[in-house]
Amino acid sequence: MESVPLDFLGELRRTHTCGELRESDSGKTAVLMGWVHRRRDLGGVIFIHLRDRDGVTQVVFRADKDAELLKKAELLGAEYVVAVEGVVEERSADTVNSAIPTGRVEVLASSLLILNESRTPPFPMEESVDVKEDVRLKYRYVDLRRPHMQRNIILRSRVAFAVRQTLYEQGFLEIETPFMTSSTPEGARDYLVPSRVQPGSFYALPQSPQLFKQLLMVSGYDKYFQIVRCFRDEDLRADRQPEFTQIDLEMSFPQAERIFEVIEPLVRYSCEVAGFDVAIPFPRMTYEEAMRSYGIDKPDLRLPPFHVLEGDFASLELAFPPVAIRVPKTGVLSRRERDELKAFGTERGLRVYDDLKKLEPAIAENAMRTTGAEEGDYVMLAGWAGAPKGQRPDYTFFQACGQLRLFAGQKYNDRHKLLDPQMFRFLWVVDFPMFEWNEEESRWTAAHHPFTSVHDADIDKLVTDPAHCRAKSYDLVLNGVELGSGSIRIHRRDVQSKVFAALGFSEEEAQRRFGYLLEGLQYGAPPHGGIALGLDRLVMILAGESSIREVIPFPKTARGTDLMCGAPSPVPARQLRELGIRLSGE
Ligand code: ASP
Repeated sequence: MESVPLDFLGELRRTHTCGELRESDSGKTAVLMGWVHRRRDLGGVIFIHLRDRDGVTQVVFRADKDAELLKKAELLGAEYVVAVEGVVEERSADTVNSAIPTGRVEVLASSLLILNESRTPPFPMEESVDVKEDVRLKYRYVDLRRPHMQRNIILRSRVAFAVRQTLYEQGFLEIETPFMTSSTPEGARDYLVPSRVQPGSFYALPQSPQLFKQLLMVSGYDKYFQIVRCFRDEDLRADRQPEFTQIDLEMSFPQAERIFEVIEPLVRYSCEVAGFDVAIPFPRMTYEEAMRSYGIDKPDLRLPPFHVLEGDFASLELAFPPVAIRVPKTGVLSRRERDELKAFGTERGLRVYDDLKKLEPAIAENAMRTTGAEEGDYVMLAGWAGAPKGQRPDYTFFQACGQLRLFAGQKYNDRHKLLDPQMFRFLWVVDFPMFEWNEEESRWTAAHHPFTSVHDADIDKLVTDPAHCRAKSYDLVLNGVELGSGSIRIHRRDVQSKVFAALGFSEEEAQRRFGYLLEGLQYGAPPHGGIALGLDRLVMILAGESSIREVIPFPKTARGTDLMCGAPSPVPARQLRELGIRLSGE
């Protein structure tokens, strides 16, 4: 390989990216730099597909033009990095390649510099080749070069820019908050960072900037935002990562509607940069409605709701009136198909009436009418078979119905095709319950987080009837995925203390964990509220992917490992000693 003078790249200016070349450039000289995507040697003529971030361009080397240069082109291997100079030529009609945007032209090379060689890549760049995820993650720098990853990462950048643009336009300030901090309560375990100068003491990485952003409101920065990394040590699933990115914001003096007014254009613009039009405002639904019609707090509106039937069902001897679930356009289901749905419901405590013909005609007719069933739709009835369960037994029942609705809806998607990934159904779910019952610990926990305001009408129920206290909280939901949550916060010290008490925190514990917030609230805290949206999930859906790892440049595996750099890894004993840490078993 020749050595390239250090100032070479500055002198030989790139005049085009691969994606830019058009017929109109014909006759002009182009300088292109990029990677050898593919090489075809026809003997006397070599074609290479030169690739950069913007696409692919064909470059031609001809023996009859420059035999020396052709020899050099023979050395090129996959993923070599080159600079090519040449004249842009229009291709003859029979050689036009309509598969690439620059397919009407090619560059006839007059010089070639090999800027770097490449080992044979661990997998080809072609999208069609299925590569195991482990290998992709180990060689992530190569994987990120593949066109679909480039598309995803570029989309992520565009969405982040769209978010910044809309928020700056609305007067928000981008303010950073610390990564090395003390515990923030978002319900997961903390990642801890040991302090060397204070042995035995630890920082916690933030689960979110929640308390800092609230304190920024106390400080008078009335519109804050940050595109920020959050860290939660929890069991990982397809849409979870130990570190993930939130679009986090907070405002002073808002009602929930004001937060929605900020978020809706932000989300619409993010969709627009991904090529999708969505209408705003988004519909709103209370948590109560979501549970009664979908059995879940993040309804996928692309599938029809279920319906609680009205009438006399004494003959069925159920704990609650039954629910009718419609699955559109399934056609007549076989006995085996119905049995599968029935078994799914039964496992979740439901009594499933999978064949309406076996029910009293009036009940069957009621179910068909109430669900608006049409020819070819399948309707089943679900009731609660056993004794009512849980603090809100009605919700336990609806949740099971919701699971059956989703299972059946997903199962027969190939027939009704309603779960179109490009159909974006956004929804605000509002008025969540303030508390959730924690079965294991036999106590109430905050459904959102403990800084959430209770509904004015429910303040008196905080201690007497926690199960029926509604919070001023809201979730943004898209196609059954929770994109983010937020709330109007508690801004008064006395109310915050009451909520801590309802959650079973002693005054000392509240002081120890959140003393600085409690103190801050006493120095002129304005009413405030905010929200955080998951950037990874938003981009995942806009990119049409089903895992957030596809839109995160350097993600971790389900076991929290970075396969490329090998984190987490043991550290030398000396480092542990400095930190005053001794591992158990030593
Ligand atoms: N900090 C919250 C969360 O991470 C969001 C919020 O309430 O603004 O879910």
